[in-house]
Amino acid sequence: MEKSKPSRPPGNDGAQLNPRTTHREFFGFPGSVAVMTITTIVLYVWNFSCSEATGCQLPVTGSQWAAIAAHAADYRSYLSLEALAYYVLWWSWLAMLYFVIPGRTVQGVTLRNGQRLDYPINGLSSFLVTLCTAAMVHSKFGIAPFLWIADHFFQLAAASYIFATTQAMFVYLRSFRRPSSGAQPVMLALAGNSGNPVYDFFIGRELNPRIGTLDLKYFNELRPGIMGWVLLNVSFAIKQQHTLGYISNSMWLAIVPQICYCVDTLLFESKVLTTMDITTDGFGWMLSFGDLTWVPVMYSLQARYLAFHPVHHSTISTVLIAVMGLVSFLVFRLSNSEKNAFRTNPNDPSLSHLRFIKTESGSKLLISGWWGLARHINYTGDWMYGLAQCLATGFDTPMTYFFSAYFLVLLLHRNYRDECKCREKYKKDWDRYCEQVPYMFIPYVI
Ligand code: NDP
Repeated sequence: MEKSKPSRPPGNDGAQLNPRTTHREFFGFPGSVAVMTITTIVLYVWNFSCSEATGCQLPVTGSQWAAIAAHAADYRSYLSLEALAYYVLWWSWLAMLYFVIPGRTVQGVTLRNGQRLDYPINGLSSFLVTLCTAAMVHSKFGIAPFLWIADHFFQLAAASYIFATTQAMFVYLRSFRRPSSGAQPVMLALAGNSGNPVYDFFIGRELNPRIGTLDLKYFNELRPGIMGWVLLNVSFAIKQQHTLGYISNSMWLAIVPQICYCVDTLLFESKVLTTMDITTDGFGWMLSFGDLTWVPVMYSLQARYLAFHPVHHSTISTVLIAVMGLVSFLVFRLSNSEKNAFRTNPNDPSLSHLRFIKTESGSKLLISGWWGLARHINYTGDWMYGLAQCLATGFDTPMTYFFSAYFLVLLLHRNYRDECKCREKYKKDWDRYCEQVPYMFIPYVI
């Protein structure tokens, strides 16, 4: 897997290639500290207030908060070398598959230095090999390893947190390396070169840190966390089966769509190469923690809750939740596929019915089909899909709706960042586009 031939624009030295960051995301230093602190507190709160031992109640009283603080201070109960060793094994296993599983190679977008990096498309095959391996583990050891995962959930979460933070420190420090003479300067993210170590560590200083051909950002984005999420869900379902003797309809309603979402992500792996995460953001704590800890730990909350608090839906509510999940998935998938197909080949005959406007930047913007309904109809489908999974947990606690609330904030913030990016890229053409497609998320509403 070779890097494509770099074309090096004249005068492309480190200082020109990597200008000082003037606009800091997330309100800079205080925002970075706030995000790191709040997300860490959320992990503790959602673990120690929503578990088999405690039930699942949003902490509101002083004594409930004191109990969480006491649990958090008792670090010996959740810092485990055994869990850390298993976590490192998991990450290393998937890194090994990244190298050895065959797959086509695709090029990422053209970088500021004119270079295009190569990426292997073998995430889905790595997932299938991992599934087969899990099946072999099951046939040899039975359900014991999966029960261990469910029972040591927070030890594994803590292990992933330590790993993610260490990885973020590693890539931050390594971003200061001096390239050997004649080599390209290290390419930094435009938003990650402020000179403030805390902010740069958080947002990510280097754009595409690589160890040999292992692209850390691309690898972390879709593999250990996404596949870890599936493994956790399966382990919680096995735990419920072990405890109850069956798997509740609510568990199926929660985990089947989530597993489909993960498979869909891996099936369309190459699409990640054009997302903001890969093209624009550096690889720092935000993505390292987000990919390795936040996604598997917080996104598997519904299955974790249902494992100790099974909810039984009537046939009608089962059908309603399933239909809501299916429809929202179709909105999400079809809208994303339509834009991806259009961006890949705007002259594709199957897209000839779509109307678009031409812009001075050279790109075209769709104004009919899914993208004529609302400027981010894909976000709407994605959010509704997550809500359907939260509804599977019933209404006994608001805590299991965390994902919907958080995802709403994430998508609103992402929408804001994307609108800023497009406004800058398309200038007055973007205003023209907004006149043609006035709604952001829901046609005729907002
Ligand atoms: P989008 O797929 O919405 O892509 C936005 C880009 O598409 C714009 O910057 C612009 O780029 C292009 N574009 C916008 N409007 C048009 C148009 N009318 N015609 C053609 N191109 C257009 O952004 P994301 O990468 O944020 O999201 C992808 C998916 O990932 C979404 O469904 C989202 O919900 C999901 N997601 C899920 C997350 C999770 O944690 N589960 C987190 C983040 C995203 P340009 O013109 O430069 O090509």
